[in-house]
Amino acid sequence: MQIYGKAEEGCSGEFFEVINPATSELIDRVPKGTEDDAAMAVEAASLAFNDWASTFPQQRARILYAAAGIVRQRKDELAVLLTREQGKPLAEARNEIEGFANVLEYYCGLASSFHGDFVLVPQNGYAFTVKKPLGVCAAIIPWNMPALIMAWKIGPALISGNTVVLKPASNTPLTNLTLASILNEAGLPPGVLNIVTGPGEVVGEDLVKSHKVKKISFTGEARTGKRVAELAASGMKKVTLELGGSDPMIVCDDANLEDAVIGALRGRFYNCGQTCTAVKRLFVFESVAEEFIKKLEIGIRNLKVGNGINKNVDMGPLNNRMQWEYIKELVKEVEEKGESKIVTGGKVPEGSTYSRGYFFEPTLVVDVPRESRLLKEEVFGPVLPVVRVKNLDEAIEEANGTCYGLGASIWTKNIDRIRKGCEQLNVGIIWLNQHLKVAPEAPFGGTKESGIGRENGPDALSEYLDLKTIMLKT
Ligand code: NDP
Repeated sequence: MQIYGKAEEGCSGEFFEVINPATSELIDRVPKGTEDDAAMAVEAASLAFNDWASTFPQQRARILYAAAGIVRQRKDELAVLLTREQGKPLAEARNEIEGFANVLEYYCGLASSFHGDFVLVPQNGYAFTVKKPLGVCAAIIPWNMPALIMAWKIGPALISGNTVVLKPASNTPLTNLTLASILNEAGLPPGVLNIVTGPGEVVGEDLVKSHKVKKISFTGEARTGKRVAELAASGMKKVTLELGGSDPMIVCDDANLEDAVIGALRGRFYNCGQTCTAVKRLFVFESVAEEFIKKLEIGIRNLKVGNGINKNVDMGPLNNRMQWEYIKELVKEVEEKGESKIVTGGKVPEGSTYSRGYFFEPTLVVDVPRESRLLKEEVFGPVLPVVRVKNLDEAIEEANGTCYGLGASIWTKNIDRIRKGCEQLNVGIIWLNQHLKVAPEAPFGGTKESGIGRENGPDALSEYLDLKTIMLKT
């Protein structure tokens, strides 16, 4: 395996710094990759493809399974690295590292499942189909869940016989690099997985444009995703795009409000609100709104904010300055307009713990007007906007009123409401009386501007395989 990252100097000889978002301390430096680095990695992946594609799937599974085992053994150390570069609390980081191993193991279990079919055709003919890997795949990773999203992409790509060039987010390359070196240690042949660190506009775009790259799997912002799709279209490449969302949570008047409060706290403030399927808009029936908001306020006030490396911290800092400035600006705008009420939070916490990091208080804003940026944009941070609605019809209409369509949750015991929500909410994932849960077994992805294609589940394999039909004359 080639790792164009920490282990080697890139072609430019320049480096960029990886900073701890809780303390502003320098953690490490990685090469600032160039077009040449991207091209070398693609070449390495291209050279490795034939051998890897002709390896029996069970053999590929043995390597990935061994890697998952090493990741489990080194979970604590990896979690510390993830917390240091990303900011999330250690418990969440451990969860994510375990998620990486779970996903690899899941795809190992599917190693013998992708085979073609035998088909009868008219006039005594036969046809059969075979599934073939695509070739070199590019994986472009964001900084919010770098380990889990790496597994979502390399798991199905590698098990089905493709080789991969992965570009980590520039804020969080270190966990990706360490995980890649573990795959190396587990026996992945050289060139099968290659990592290139470097700016998205350079390394990312070059990977997408390279005529040797046959597929791109991207997770990140919708605007970047559109750029990736545009570039990929000229080479008619397959794309999987996971572009975030503005997930609604609908709390009906018959919901268990205690459960719904726990769901909203986890749904919005997990990973400091930087999750594509976070609860980004909360619609609550008017008749229970006061009671629900009071309970929610108490829950939010009890959240402990701090450096994720310390015990008992519920929420760490935002990952980077850009996100921090964006959240501060958004809340300032809410304050200045005075149209909605900030019930709790709304500022940078005070004290020495917070003075060098990108911290922001968990914030509850109620009675948010429909045209507010809090409801219109994908708010990647710890701010929960609440809107009162009369009934489910109004909630669904509001919920569907964005360009996004990733996930949604409905909190009710009423089967008719569940049925209506499942039919009418225009999203890729619906949670009932829960929010946020993902599993390697269950397809993940959105509709509308939330993206194209699915990750997780057996369907993800078809994103990395080509179907060839062979017609026989008898
Ligand atoms: P980006 O979409 O810019 O970054 C995601 C990945 O794409 C990174 O690896 C980035 O590299 C790379 N990239 C950037 N530009 C290009 C390009 N032109 N061609 C190919 N790859 C590129 O997201 P940001 O990090 O800027 O985050 C901004 C917003 O995106 C967040 O506020 C949030 O709303 C959304 N987001 C959504 C995520 C999700 O899971 N749905 C995850 C992360 C962000 P580099 O890091 O070097 O710029």
